Amino acid sequence: MTLDTNWVKEWIVAAAASIGEHKQELNTLDREIGDGDHGENMDRGLKASVAALEKLPDDATPNAALRSVAMTLISTVGGASGPLYGTAFLKAAEPVGDAEAIDETTLVAALRAGRDGIVSRGKAEPGDKTMVDAWTPAVDAAAAAQESGASAAGILAAAAEAAEKGSDATIPLVARKGRASYLGERSAGHRDPGAQSTALLLRAAAGVAG
Ligand code: ADP
Ligand code: MG
Ligand code: MG
Repeated sequence: MTLDTNWVKEWIVAAAASIGEHKQELNTLDREIGDGDHGENMDRGLKASVAALEKLPDDATPNAALRSVAMTLISTVGGASGPLYGTAFLKAAEPVGDAEAIDETTLVAALRAGRDGIVSRGKAEPGDKTMVDAWTPAVDAAAAAQESGASAAGILAAAAEAAEKGSDATIPLVARKGRASYLGERSAGHRDPGAQSTALLLRAAAGVAG
């Protein structure tokens, strides 16, 4: 489908459903290396984002929809992940400008801007066992897919698959950022919850686009 405002809305509805289904799993991952609230935090934020998007005017642009999600996540998620995901959506909206629909080049630029926003806010590097370890391979895979001529749905599918692998790859890592870093070496052997929620969000984006 065309990546217009309706796509953003459908994406966030699908993301809210997926996060809701995986809420306990995300809480459990966060209980192992954090404070056990990541599923709750994300579930609250995505449900509030769906409600906020329903209130947007009919002629709202994709940029306005992405910024609505950003502000809602920042104000409702709490925890480390709220401002990080909020910044990602805010920054992703920038390259979209006032376009009615997000084309393939802009999609990659938006994903990259989102990842860069998380990095500049949270200062995590790849390998620090955070959501950056899902976002970074996702951006790289999206760019490669776009360069080889993939559709928006293909670009998002590549990003989602790379994010899932990136989430898997956090398991052996020792955390160097966020609450999990307090555990030091004991954080190894557990999946990072934020990397997993990133994979779920991108998989929802791909599912709705395809
Ligand atoms: P909190 O740790 O405040 O309870 P959440 O549980 O909602 O917040 O989110 C935890 C997730 O946030 C981690 O799994 C990790 O992916 C991400 N995170 C934490 N700190 C950072 C950071 N500095 N940079 C990037 N991601 C981070
Ligand atoms: Mg937590
Ligand atoms: Mg918390």
